[in-house]
Amino acid sequence: MPVKFCAQCGSELVTGSESGRERPMCPRCGYIVYRNPVPVALVVTTRDDKLLLVHRVNAPLAGYWAPPAGYVEIDESLEEGAAREVKEETGFDVVVDKLLRVYSRANVGIMLVTFAAHVVGGEMAPQAHEVAEARFFARDELPAQPPPTDGKPLDYWFYAVAKGILVEFERKG
Ligand SMILES: [Zn+2]
Repeated sequence: MPVKFCAQCGSELVTGSESGRERPMCPRCGYIVYRNPVPVALVVTTRDDKLLLVHRVNAPLAGYWAPPAGYVEIDESLEEGAAREVKEETGFDVVVDKLLRVYSRANVGIMLVTFAAHVVGGEMAPQAHEVAEARFFARDELPAQPPPTDGKPLDYWFYAVAKGILVEFERKG
């Protein structure tokens, strides 16, 4: 959804050229709208060799099991955001062990930064409204999930990333 009004002064934005790119900008105060991919932390959490997944309620991938994930806030590091998301979505306290991979793709608006983490406390108690349920899965009980059929680009991409993580977990056994 294109931004129509200036976030600083409320004037209607126009399209102008800046650094060789067309961008929405404000003719009154000079504010320029930059659209950059936003980091999302995704956490591959394990306990007793089982993988922690949440049943998603909202898009992308509503109705699917996927690792806990969410936007990183301005006042936290990626690792802090990752641990917070796991806490909110599952109730567990985790320690983030390492960066696994950064997934990036044009025109989906986000980049996915995946971390490995392990549980150090807490109990199963999802607080987040975007999660219906959280569960640990052993390798032989990972959910079989068909790809989305009427999704947006973000759904297909997130599906592929989540599926890749599950497959990798399965292979490590
Ligand atoms: Zn303005």
